[in-house]
Amino acid sequence: MISVLRLGHRVGRDDRISTHVGLAARQWGAEEVVFSGDKDEGMLESQQDIIERWGGNTEIQYTEDWKEFIRGFDGVKVHLTMYGERIEDKEEELRNRFENNDFLLIVGSEKVSRWVYENVDINLSVGNQPHSEIAALAVFLDRIRDRDIKHDFEDADIEVEPSKQRKLTKEKD
Ligand code: SAM
Repeated sequence: MISVLRLGHRVGRDDRISTHVGLAARQWGAEEVVFSGDKDEGMLESQQDIIERWGGNTEIQYTEDWKEFIRGFDGVKVHLTMYGERIEDKEEELRNRFENNDFLLIVGSEKVSRWVYENVDINLSVGNQPHSEIAALAVFLDRIRDRDIKHDFEDADIEVEPSKQRKLTKEKD
C-alpha cells in the first residue's frame, strides 16, 4: 500500500500543485493521499470529483496533525527532499522493502520542518537539485513500481481512446 502525505498546503498558492500531487499519486498507484496545512475544501472536493469521474479507489483525506500521522504510520517512511540520499544508491533496498511493507511518501511545499528529517526512515533525493514535489513523486513511484503505468481505473465514468491526432473519450455505462 502506498500512502502520500503532502505537507503545508497553502490555499491560493498551492491549489494546482497540490491537486497534481494527488493526481500523480493516483496515477502511480497510491491508495491514499493525505493533505495537511490549510484545510482547503475546494481543492479536496475537486480531487474527489476527478477520481469519481475517472475511476479508482484513491482516498483523499486531510489531517491537521501531520506529526501524529507520520508517527502512527506502520511502514517505511520516505521523505522526498533534494537534500536526501540519492535514489540511485537506495533504489534496490527500497524495491526490496516495497515487496513486504507499506510505504509513506512525504512531500513538502515550502520549508520542511527538521522534525520530518529526523522522524522518517529515509530522506531521499531524486537528484540533489531543487525541482518539484510532483516530479519527485512520479519518478520515485515509477522506479519502485517497475515502470507500470496504469491506463484503466475501476468504476470510471469516462475513458480515453488513445488517438494519433484527436482528443477522444468515451463515456462508460
Ligand atoms: N528547498 C526545498 C526542500 O526542502 O526540498 C524545496 C521545496 S520544493 C518547492 C517542494 C518539495 O518538492 C520538497 O519539499 C520535496 O518534497 C520536493 N522536491 C523538490 N526537489 C526535490 C528533489 N531533488 N528530490 C526529491 N524531492 C524534491
